[in-house]
Amino acid sequence: VELTDAVADLVDHHCHGLVIDDLDRAHVEALLNEAQHPPPPGRTRFDSLLGVALRRHCGPVLGVDPAAPVEEYLAARHRLGGHVASERLVGAARIGTSLVDTGLRDDRLTDPDTLARLSGGVAHEVVRLERLAEDLLVAGEPDLVTALPHRLASSGAVAAKSIAAYRVGLALPDRKPRGDEVRAALAEVERAPDGSVRLADPLVIGWLAWTAVELGLPLQLHVGYGDADLDLGRADPLLLTPFLRATRGHDTPVVLLHCYPFHRRAAYLAQVLDHVHVDLGLATHNTGAFAPTLLRETLELVPFDRLLFSTDAYGLAEHVLLGATLFRAALTQVLHGLVTSGEMAEVDAVRVAELVGSGNAREVYSLSSPRRPGASTQR
Ligand SMILES: [Zn+2]
Repeated sequence: VELTDAVADLVDHHCHGLVIDDLDRAHVEALLNEAQHPPPPGRTRFDSLLGVALRRHCGPVLGVDPAAPVEEYLAARHRLGGHVASERLVGAARIGTSLVDTGLRDDRLTDPDTLARLSGGVAHEVVRLERLAEDLLVAGEPDLVTALPHRLASSGAVAAKSIAAYRVGLALPDRKPRGDEVRAALAEVERAPDGSVRLADPLVIGWLAWTAVELGLPLQLHVGYGDADLDLGRADPLLLTPFLRATRGHDTPVVLLHCYPFHRRAAYLAQVLDHVHVDLGLATHNTGAFAPTLLRETLELVPFDRLLFSTDAYGLAEHVLLGATLFRAALTQVLHGLVTSGEMAEVDAVRVAELVGSGNAREVYSLSSPRRPGASTQR
């Protein structure tokens, strides 16, 4: 088996829905990276390694020369229509399995089935804990402490995701909060005038994460790099140390998503705690041609059975193709370097590439068997 064949099949273990409507320039710019405001007049978000990589790798898929200006790329995208352009871009990524975080509140985003149709592969749902709890509260659920574990267990999702980093930071508790503590905290939760609820109590958020761990549902945690409303200082994975030590005995995989610029710290945690896994997510497409550096730095410490691939694609189909293309290139480049310098046997490089590209994700989320029925989330 060649190294390039070893990453032919990818499991994208973390992505979001896409917007497949026609998008004008302002909307593409808004979805391009994590900046929340439009660029100043005369400036563009394409002036970045991400923008360069997009023209380089997505341009040819839509029939545009990589050296052509952004306007030409966007014109071609518009001529094809958002749906056809997205189908081409996602199809070119050759991702067989996608795990989709369905927790974002945005009606424009495709659901997992639509993504599966675009990719020609299969898609599974990852349930967002905070969203599930908020939806139950808004629907008038009188006792979340009893109801949420049942809903989680019967959700059919292959994993749970927490955005604790955004809400309270990653200093999650080193024991599961008791039911009476959680009920007291929930009694203080206020509703917005429109009836919506936003959970941001450390005890409640910690209880949600612990609930997934106790159910044996793999727990994805947003770590590091993310939207502009993230306080990056509270998203350092080292803050998770007490929680990770305390959850070790449960044998439930905990997966640290994205991690940049703390990817070395995350790799260290994966080395010392066997239930901890890491990925590089959106840092791969955002760093463009420099993605091999991130991967190399992560591989310094991370055990080979604990690194996973994800695109963290959100909104733009371009992110799916960039995530897959840049990751395949980075992984083969780094491993090929080890082989040609005589530091790693080719047979080992091939095995590592298969693990990172798909094998580890299949193991963590028990994907080799068809979608697990209901609550049977014990591994
Ligand atoms: Zn994400």
